[in-house]
Amino acid sequence: METQNWLLKQAATQPEKVAVTDGARSLTFRQLADVVRRIVSRLDQLYPGPRVGMLATNSLTSYEIALAILSSGRTIVWLNWRLADEELHRQIADSDLHLCLVADTLWRPTMDERFTNYTALLKLPAGSSKLTPTFNADQVASIMYTSGTTGAPKGVLQTFGNHFYSATSSALNLGLNSDDEWLCVAPIFHISGFSIIMRGLIYGMTVRLVDKFRVAPIEEILVNEPVTIMSVVPFMLKKLIAHLAQTHRSYNPNFRCMLLGGGTIDRPTLLKCQQLQIPVVQCYGMTETCSQIVALRAENALTKLGSVGQPLFTTQLKLSSSGEVLLKTPALTPGYLNLPQKLPAKMVEGWYRTGDIGHLDKDGFLYIDGRRDDMLISGGENIFPEEVEQVYQRYPGIDAIAVVGKADPEWGQVPVAFVVSQHEVDPAQLTRFGYQHLAHYKVPRKYIRIPALPTNASGKVQRFLLRQQLS
Ligand code: ATP
Ligand code: MG
Repeated sequence: METQNWLLKQAATQPEKVAVTDGARSLTFRQLADVVRRIVSRLDQLYPGPRVGMLATNSLTSYEIALAILSSGRTIVWLNWRLADEELHRQIADSDLHLCLVADTLWRPTMDERFTNYTALLKLPAGSSKLTPTFNADQVASIMYTSGTTGAPKGVLQTFGNHFYSATSSALNLGLNSDDEWLCVAPIFHISGFSIIMRGLIYGMTVRLVDKFRVAPIEEILVNEPVTIMSVVPFMLKKLIAHLAQTHRSYNPNFRCMLLGGGTIDRPTLLKCQQLQIPVVQCYGMTETCSQIVALRAENALTKLGSVGQPLFTTQLKLSSSGEVLLKTPALTPGYLNLPQKLPAKMVEGWYRTGDIGHLDKDGFLYIDGRRDDMLISGGENIFPEEVEQVYQRYPGIDAIAVVGKADPEWGQVPVAFVVSQHEVDPAQLTRFGYQHLAHYKVPRKYIRIPALPTNASGKVQRFLLRQQLS
């Protein structure tokens, strides 16, 4: 499949439509194409190669530069600015980057000649370069590293075809209105954010960029601006609804969807959203599938609370005998960078093994129970750490908790909890609390107090590191 360059297509068919805004400055598709032509001419002076890294904030300039990289026929390598120097350099070496464009505010003293900040790029004299006329379905548009929750982050190749199927499948589920405007505060270096940019280009839809997640200003936007959809992860949703419950305001009347993904959400939060009449659409996806591949349609949100929904139009889904979620989708990556054996090793008879364990209800709605690698089996019973952790998060004085399996001669494995608390924890009290809310085999046998849980740059708990501490 070959299509016209999506930016050029929109600039030709709806030139005056606003493509992107940060609230202060807006660009129509025509203006955007002009800006991008100038940036491409600067990029060409700086570096002729096919791959350019980005260390980006969600700013308008990042958006313009990202589109310039794509529109010059190059691949963007997205880097997470929360990475420590060492991790960052590992990814830069892995993706063989010779040019990495860095938002000025993210500049680090350790950056060498491979790095250029936005100001230095934009200071170069500009011509007006011809943009690549077409995007090819097999061409790699982006390389994005997985979060590194279950091990070292892997570079995922994402083609234009992957992005196209992802965006169109989302539209077939959520519908598409001519007044749609999608708020993008999800980092654009994650698929949750970058997929909004791609949808903007494919749908011809306005993207409302927000650089930092701060509750009050975002509420202001949702109340006063014509935003219709916002992508959130669980912590964002929790903060937004807690604030809204205090201010007693309502989002603008056209606001129609909080697209919630990235991790499990607790029932009380979903019930609270119901009370506040915030339409939440839960979804499930991963870097390897270029964003959501399963989602809960708005009309089922109330009856199927806690489900991540049904496979999107182009997704086929089934469970293995062990409950692992298996997928077929044209949005699936063609492979991992420099790891040619990795994707084939995850395929069984044409199905992609996600590493997530789930179950389906009688109507075919999917519920995610947890990660295969994190699940522990105690006396033949499956235990999902998330379930136990959610119970203990309600215990006063516990700031954070993570549950992992410890080898046990009698039970195979037993649950052990790592607890972050300002105070000493009393194992007997915690055990009693557990017995009130959980089956006995799920209650941790031991509580280990630590200063902080190990998390990756996306804030997900790396239970594999805690398991290593036990062995
Ligand atoms: P790595 O693959 O490096 O271990 P990661 O899997 O956390 O990291 P991502 O691709 O960012 O990297 O995250 C995808 C994963 O997030 C999914 O495989 C799943 O475990 C989890 N996830 C996504 N959406 C949901 C959801 N709605 N409910 C529960 N878990 C979810
Ligand atoms: Mg993963």
